[in-house]
Amino acid sequence: MTLDEYGPLALRTLNDLDDVKANLAHMALGITGEAGEVADVIKKHYAYGKPLDAHHLIEEVGDIMFYMNGLLDELGIEWGEVLALNIAKLEARYPHLRFNANHAINRDVNAEQKAMFAKALDNEDSILSTGALR
Ligand SMILES: [Mg+2]
Repeated sequence: MTLDEYGPLALRTLNDLDDVKANLAHMALGITGEAGEVADVIKKHYAYGKPLDAHHLIEEVGDIMFYMNGLLDELGIEWGEVLALNIAKLEARYPHLRFNANHAINRDVNAEQKAMFAKALDNEDSILSTGALR
């Protein structure tokens, strides 16, 4: 299943709170809560010596995707746009296209932002252009 296929299927079961701020808060809290569940699975493996519960870990990753999908839907952004922006940022950060600790620490945030959003500035209707919800 692709992310574009997943998106509308997952939205069928999302609780719409009928308020943008409430929906954004719901999604942010959901992502955070599920990230905590991922951390708990890893904690039990790392600190308590339990076998890694990969089934549980994968379930929680899916739960994070559910809330991330809801957040993107609330923003009116497609998965493909977010993924392309992230690659643009990484390519700006790592010009040799591999990890470099110096580049990770000494980031040019302005150059990364420009690489990500320069194209979007041409489309005034996009949240990617304004960076703000209408
Ligand atoms: Mg969960």
